[in-house]
Amino acid sequence: MHLARFPRLRLFPAPTPLEPLPNLTKHLGGPQIWIKRDDCTVVATGGNKVRKLEFLAGEALALGADHLITQGAVQSNHVRQTAAVAARLGMKFTALLEHRIDTNDRDYLNSGNVLLDRLMGAALEYRPGGTDMQAALEAKTDELRAAGQTPYMIPGGGSNRVGALGYVGCAQELMQQADEMGLKIDRVVHATGSSGTQAGLVVGLEGVNSGVRVLGIGVRAPKDRQEANVHKLAEATADYCGVKGGIARSAVEANCDYVGAGYGIPTPGMAEAVTMLARLEGVLLDPVYSGKGMAGLIDLIRKGEIGKQETVVFIHTGGAVGLYGYNGFFEQALAG
Ligand SMILES: *Cc1c(COP(=O)(O)O)cnc(C)c1O
Repeated sequence: MHLARFPRLRLFPAPTPLEPLPNLTKHLGGPQIWIKRDDCTVVATGGNKVRKLEFLAGEALALGADHLITQGAVQSNHVRQTAAVAARLGMKFTALLEHRIDTNDRDYLNSGNVLLDRLMGAALEYRPGGTDMQAALEAKTDELRAAGQTPYMIPGGGSNRVGALGYVGCAQELMQQADEMGLKIDRVVHATGSSGTQAGLVVGLEGVNSGVRVLGIGVRAPKDRQEANVHKLAEATADYCGVKGGIARSAVEANCDYVGAGYGIPTPGMAEAVTMLARLEGVLLDPVYSGKGMAGLIDLIRKGEIGKQETVVFIHTGGAVGLYGYNGFFEQALAG
């Protein structure tokens, strides 16, 4: 596996920090918890999509595109990060936003990521909840092409084999940091949604036989479907970047017990995790992904399913801008 074979646009200074969380570790009575700060990827407040966009935008440039197009939920972090990359490259940008959550909340609909999308000049089009968003994206891409543009279509979350290369790279970066520090990692934990982050991490860590387990905490789909999606993309990514022998199905592990009522719908565990990390470590998680991911990690530690003797790295995938879209929820949570 040799990532320099693929077109890539460098968007942030790597590596992102790998830091201990001593107060959280003490509060929970172990395991040793570390955090990899992929919320610090610079572009328009950062997040995990920036790593994917290094390869996606690299390919878009190589293909002579003049317009990026993608899709996501209204408070999509992916859309915000893609809008920033398009602005930086002087390309036009169109996003289809799905009303995936049924709400009239002003902050959810206008603040947080949406505010930043608009500031960066994104052309936003809305679709009702339950729309086949990939089909809608393809239709809109065809429309742009017919209008004489050269669009480059990025799937939801930037999760295809090109985007997933970003997290193959993250796995390599993490192993190098850990080796330099003499840090033996047992497990990596992170929030998993459109699957590209986990698929890339699994390929990168399996590809070098690291022995590090990856646990995705689901935010939308049930476990069977989430693991199948991640595995399928991991196989495609492994094939694309030259990892031989495929990816064992057993290397793909997701826990989807922390979704709550649905994608983007707050849970008490998320509120606890967001508040705990803010107050113990000054780390800002997000309500849709990293907050639920950390809620899962905390609960699995409390239940003893993640052992006290382990060393765990939580990948902070970003998204704190989304907190502003959930202002009303946190006002209530903090008051209650
Ligand atoms: C998109 C996103 C994720 C999930 O990553 P996938 O590659 O879509 O699985 C996790 N956290 C945040 C903050 C995100 O924006």
